[in-house]
Amino acid sequence: MRSGLHADLRLRRDAFTLEVQLDVPDGVTVALLGPNGSGKSTLVSALAGLLPIEGGEVVVGGHVWERPSERVRLAPRARSIGVMFQGLLLFPALTALDNVAFGLRAQGLGRAEARRRAADHLARFHVQDVGAKRPSELSGGQAQRVALARALAVEPALLLLDEPMSALDVANRTEARRTLKHALADFEGAKVIITHNPLEAMALTDRLVILEGGRVTQQGSSSDMLRRPRSSYVASLAGINLLEGEVESHGRLRLSDGRGRLAIPSDAAKAGDLVLASISPQAVTLSMTPPTSSARNVFAGNVDAIEIFGQRARVSLETEPRLTAEVTLDAIEALGIRQGASAWASVKATQIEVYAA
Ligand code: ADP
Ligand code: MG
Repeated sequence: MRSGLHADLRLRRDAFTLEVQLDVPDGVTVALLGPNGSGKSTLVSALAGLLPIEGGEVVVGGHVWERPSERVRLAPRARSIGVMFQGLLLFPALTALDNVAFGLRAQGLGRAEARRRAADHLARFHVQDVGAKRPSELSGGQAQRVALARALAVEPALLLLDEPMSALDVANRTEARRTLKHALADFEGAKVIITHNPLEAMALTDRLVILEGGRVTQQGSSSDMLRRPRSSYVASLAGINLLEGEVESHGRLRLSDGRGRLAIPSDAAKAGDLVLASISPQAVTLSMTPPTSSARNVFAGNVDAIEIFGQRARVSLETEPRLTAEVTLDAIEALGIRQGASAWASVKATQIEVYAA
């Protein structure tokens, strides 16, 4: 019997066609990454049984959930799935406790037993005190914990989290990421985390599947993918400066392998945290003389390579840490940027996105 998720499905939604093959073994987390409108949430609806597939099959833990050729189609509540839908963490009319009990009731448990177990799951996510509250009375972080408790309470074979961070404001994210990471580490079934944020995807797992226009365009480890991008979307990810390090004090990051230090937003993580930091290439400002800007991160180094695409260019620098900047061709001309020239790269701390690993 094959474990994990095996999906090979096709469906249409007006003019949009989703055609996806996805295999996720038990215990493995796959990040499904793609631009807005690429079909990620449509795939979630299909796997959850809310949208019928037209061809192919969905098989989980050896059980056929859906196979149109044999007219097999399990109802949503007959699928062993824990799901966090995008933008809809919880049922607004139910208390937090009843939200978590809902799936247990659907599995046939009596009301008292379902509530007792739901309370245990709330406690597991340290939100046992909010059981009587409605979703509108919860903070973003509490709602996320309740939603994770709800998804996992049914002890599903498959965990599907669609943009689980999108409902949170920035202040809650570091904490929420930690909660999410622990929840994923504890869960033994197949896990699919859906996001349009490459840093989030890469921080949670090294198995990425890229969805574009309803199709999987590339999959593999992040390092392989960034080295050999096969679409302009992945190529745009490839320009991202991804750095690792340990927070020394609020606002200061010591990079791994002696690559220097970085000023980061002071509320991004706490001292001792291991983090990933990303700097978009558009956030790197280039100059050919020492910069006079107020940017706290300034690095000197030679221009290693200039790669032109359309009206823009990506300039890689032999700075410590190595950085890639993206500038217009006009800027290349105006600044006199050429290979081998010495240059300065500056980055504002506020432009650095930090993800506690
Ligand atoms: P993503 O989650 O990757 O942003 P979605 O799965 O939400 O993408 O949407 C994929 C495509 O499906 C959209 O481009 C749109 O054409 C179509 N779509 C989404 N929702 C609906 C809907 N309710 N009815 C019809 N088509 C839809
Ligand atoms: Mg979506």
